[in-house]
Amino acid sequence: MSEHKYIVNSEIASGLDVIGDRWTLLILRDCFLGRSRFEEFRRYTGISKATLSRRLECLVAEDILHKRPYGQSSKRVEYKLSEKGSRLFPISLLAWQWEMEWTSGEQFQASSNLYHLECSQPLSPMAVCRKCNEQLLVSEVSLPVMAENSTGQLAAFKSLNKMRRVRSTDLQEAKDDRLLSISDLIGDRWTLLILIASFLGVKRNDGYQQQLNIASNILSARLNLLVKTGVFEKRLYQNKPPRSEYILTNKGRSLFPIIMAMRQWVVDGLSKTDLSKTDQSLELIHQPCGNPLAIDVQCKSCHSQPGLTDVGLESVASR
Ligand SMILES: [Zn+2]
Ligand SMILES: [Zn+2]
Repeated sequence: MSEHKYIVNSEIASGLDVIGDRWTLLILRDCFLGRSRFEEFRRYTGISKATLSRRLECLVAEDILHKRPYGQSSKRVEYKLSEKGSRLFPISLLAWQWEMEWTSGEQFQASSNLYHLECSQPLSPMAVCRKCNEQLLVSEVSLPVMAENSTGQLAAFKSLNKMRRVRSTDLQEAKDDRLLSISDLIGDRWTLLILIASFLGVKRNDGYQQQLNIASNILSARLNLLVKTGVFEKRLYQNKPPRSEYILTNKGRSLFPIIMAMRQWVVDGLSKTDLSKTDQSLELIHQPCGNPLAIDVQCKSCHSQPGLTDVGLESVASR
């Protein structure tokens, strides 16, 4: 298992600090839908005022949203996506697609389908390798063979205590059933890290503990949740004493492109100097072409990259 020591790396962890949060994902989705004002975010996400203010402040500080006055009064402000924020759009597209495909639909049927204006087809976003253009499959991505480097593990987890405190208050507010399952899964830091580890081959409790340095009660709560939501299947691999392993289902495997798109957003935002500093970071190899993994998101029909201005909504039900 030593080769898996790189799983929790600085590049992914730093991205999670910014976007790996359920509320932030919901706010960003609203931004992509053209919403820009405090009250609009309140109405569509159901976030409390205090939490929304904190998240917006954080997104402005991270240069994902720009705050600017609108209307006559200088007191009124709106929040617009920056260039950095707009680059999150492919992640949102993939997440949207995943929900359409895998959630029961109670929360989303009333929503809309995505439509690619450029090719006039319903938009089905797909992650591809930037080098060879082949569709990204979890079975075709691997870690490079590297010397063991223990500092790659969990180095970027210093802010975790702070984050958990924020989360527990948020979770109490999370009673609104409009909350999205995708945000619950990838907007929780531990769940996301468990998923990343599983994509790279970790299946058993001891593997997760070794990789993530995660407390066993937190680990079992997250594993149970992932089984309950159909992302993992629990299989007994030993009878005496009983021991189980957790196998990714198709539903779980289809989260892979979304999480790789999150990684790509972080990597693409790093300058060359930053990149050379992150030599401990998680490098992945796309096996079919042998190149270091970089991905793009394309429209399945026309293979161009859908941008914010050429994706429309096709209403499937009246609200
Ligand atoms: Zn490739
Ligand atoms: Zn298209």
